[in-house]
Amino acid sequence: MRLIIISNRLPVKVQTGEQGLEFKRSEGGLATGLGSLETSIEKHWIGWPGLFVEEEGEEEEITKELLKENFHPVFLTQDQIENFYEGYSNKVIWPLCHYFFGHIEYKSEYWAAYKKVNQLFAEAAKSIIEEDDIVWVQDYQLMLLPSMLRQNHEDISIGYFHHIPFPSYELFRVLPERAEILNGLIGADLIAFHTHDYMRHFISSAYRVLDLDFTLDEAQVGNRVVHVDTFPMGINYNLYHETILKPEVKEIATKLHKEFGNDKLILSVDRLDYSKGIVHRLNGFEQFIENNPEYREKVSLAMIVVPSRDSVDIYADLKTSIEQTISNINGKYATLNWTPVHYFYRSFPFEELIAMYHIADIGLVTPLRDGMNLVAKEYVATKQDNPGVLILSEMAGAAIELTEALIVNPNDTKAIENAIIQAIEMPEGEQLERIQQMQEVISRQTVSKWADDFFKELTFIKQQTSDLQDKQISHIDSEKIITQYKDAKKRLIILDYDGTLAPFRKKPQDAAPSDELIKLLRELASDDKNTVVISSGRDHQTLDKWLGDLPILFAAEHGAFFKEDGVWHENISFPQWNDEIIDIFQQITNRTPKSKIEIKKTAIVWHYRNTDAWLADLRVKQLINRLINPCSRLNLQVMRGNKIVEIKSPDFSKGTEAKRLMAKDNFDFVMAIGDDVTDDDMFHALPDDAITIKIGENSDYAKYNLAAQRLTLPFLRSLLE
Ligand code: UDP
Repeated sequence: MRLIIISNRLPVKVQTGEQGLEFKRSEGGLATGLGSLETSIEKHWIGWPGLFVEEEGEEEEITKELLKENFHPVFLTQDQIENFYEGYSNKVIWPLCHYFFGHIEYKSEYWAAYKKVNQLFAEAAKSIIEEDDIVWVQDYQLMLLPSMLRQNHEDISIGYFHHIPFPSYELFRVLPERAEILNGLIGADLIAFHTHDYMRHFISSAYRVLDLDFTLDEAQVGNRVVHVDTFPMGINYNLYHETILKPEVKEIATKLHKEFGNDKLILSVDRLDYSKGIVHRLNGFEQFIENNPEYREKVSLAMIVVPSRDSVDIYADLKTSIEQTISNINGKYATLNWTPVHYFYRSFPFEELIAMYHIADIGLVTPLRDGMNLVAKEYVATKQDNPGVLILSEMAGAAIELTEALIVNPNDTKAIENAIIQAIEMPEGEQLERIQQMQEVISRQTVSKWADDFFKELTFIKQQTSDLQDKQISHIDSEKIITQYKDAKKRLIILDYDGTLAPFRKKPQDAAPSDELIKLLRELASDDKNTVVISSGRDHQTLDKWLGDLPILFAAEHGAFFKEDGVWHENISFPQWNDEIIDIFQQITNRTPKSKIEIKKTAIVWHYRNTDAWLADLRVKQLINRLINPCSRLNLQVMRGNKIVEIKSPDFSKGTEAKRLMAKDNFDFVMAIGDDVTDDDMFHALPDDAITIKIGENSDYAKYNLAAQRLTLPFLRSLLE
C-alpha cells in the first residue's frame, strides 16, 4: 500500500536559474503534516511543478529530478493556468465558496479548462496508481478528480479534503456546473471538511442536486458507500511555539519591540483577499480611535498584507481601497509621535513573522469567511509566558476550536471596536489563561495529527469496504446456509419485495420485477420442496399484475390479503376509516409538496419518497402526533416504514402472516429476507432456527445481514447452483 497525494501544486519550487534548473522544497503546512505521517508508507505526490516549460528536453529533466523525491509533475500551459487556476478555481469556485457571489467572473472557457486540467491530472495519476494504493486529493482545484480516478481504478481508496468553506446550498445552487462538481467529488470514499457546518452544507447540496440520501455521514452511491467527515487542520505547533526561543529570533523581537515603542500593538496578517475582511477591520479600528480618544497615541495597528493575485482586477482594486483607507486613517489621526496604522505590503520572512506574533498584544483576525485561518492559531502558538489576546471572526473555521478568543462578527465594526477595548483592558492573568487553554487545543490538534486522522479514517474505510466485499463474495456464511438448504426436505422461503427483491425506487411504479428476478423466482418455485412466498406491504393488485403468473404464494398489504392456490383471500375484517383520520392525512398531504396518500381497505399510507428531507421529517412528526389519539381510540397501529407512515389494524402484520405460514406444514428450512421495520415483525415471529436476513443495516431480530439489495439475487441464485 502506498499513499498518493494529488494537489494543484507540488511542494517544490522549480526555477530556471543561471546554472540551469533549480529545485527548492517549499514546506507548506500540508507538506509538513504529510511529512510526519508514518514513514513506513511509501508516499508519492502528483502536482504542477509551478513553471511553464519552454525549452526542449526540460520536461524530461524536471521529471527525472523530481522522481528522486517521488514527485510526479503534471505540466500545464500558461493558458491552462490562466483559465483553470486563475479562472474557474479562483474566479468562480473561490468567491462562491466564500459567499462572494457578486465577485464571480464566469466564462465558459474557464469551465472547459477546469475539466481538461482535472483530466490531465487523472491521466498522470493513471500510470502511477497501483491497485492497493490510497489516494488523497487536495482542494477545490481538483473537485472533478475523485470520480475521474474512480473510472480508471474502480477499487482504490480515494479521499478528498476541501480546504476552503463549503457554502450553503442556496449559494452553491448558483453554479451552473453544480451537478458535475458534486458528481466529481462523490467518486471519493471519504470527503472531508474543516468544520461540521461545511459538511452539513455539502450533504444538503448533494441531497438537493444529486438526490443523494445521506444517513448521517454516509450515502450509498451505486455499489459504494461515500463517507463525509470533519478534520480541522492545525499547524506545526512546536515549530511556532519554539522558534521564538532561538536567540537570533529573540533579538529580532526585541528590536521590533523597540521600534513599535510602548504602544499597545495590534497585529493583523493576511494574504490579500476580499474574504479576509481587511477594509472592515480597518473601519473597526478607525471607529475605535475615533470613539475612544484616550487610546490615541497608545495603540497602533501593524497590518501585514501578503501580495496575492494582484494582477486580477478585483484584487488590485482591493489593494487600492486598503491603501486609501489606511492613508485616510493615518492622515486624520497621526501625530508627530504616533502612526495609527503601520502597513506592510510584502511577505515576511518566517522568523520575523514569529517575532511579530510574539510581541503583538492583540492578534486581530477578522475574515468575512475563512475555511480555517491558520494565522489565528500561529499567533496563539508563538506566545511563551507573555500575554496576548486573540480577537477572532466567528466566520473563520478556527473559531470552532479557539473558543477562548474574543469572538466577533467581522461585519460589525462596533463589535470590533468593543473587542479591541476589551482586549486592552483584559487583566494579564486572564490573557495568560485564555492563551494557555487555546494552546492546549492547538498543540494537540496539530497538522500532523490532522493528516494522521484523515489517513487513519481512510484506511479504516478501506478495510471496512474490503471486509464488506469479502462478505459479499462469501454470501453471508453462504456455505452453511447452502448446506442447510440442500439437506432440507420442506422449505419455506419468505421474501419481502421493495428493497429486497427489487431496488427501492423514488417512483414505486419503477420497481417492476426484472426478467432476472422473474426467472429466479420461477426456478426457486419449480423445486417441489420449496414454498416461496412474497410478503409485501404493497397492494395485492400490483403484486398480482407483476408476478401473479408465478407458482408462488403472496401476502399483500402486510398480510391483510393472501393468495394461495391461485386465489386471493382476505385475512381479517377491515377497519372503517372515518373522516377525522382521513382529514389528518389530507391536511398534511396538502401542505407537503410531492407527498401523497394511499387509502387502501386495509391501511392508509402516507408516502413521502420524493419530498424534501427536512420538510418530510417535520411532517412525519406532526402527522404521528396528530394520529396518536384517534388511533388509540380506534385501535389502529401507526407504523413508520421506508419513506412512509402507515396506519392499519394491529391484528395483522408480516409477523402474523409468517406465523400463519409456519402453521401450514412441518418445514425443516425456514428463511426470510427483508429490509425494513415491518420485516422485523416477520423475523421476530419466526422460530429461533430460522434463517433471517436483513438487507442494509443490521437488525436486532435478523441473524444475518446482506449489505445491499443488489446482493439478494446473487445470494438466492447461489442456493440453486
Ligand atoms: N504567511 C506567510 N508570510 C507572511 C505572512 C503570513 O507565509 O508574510 C503565512 C502564515 O504564516 C499562514 C499563511 O500565510 O501560515 C496564511 O494561512 P491562512 O490559513 O491564515 O490563510 P490563507 O492564505 O490560506 O487563506
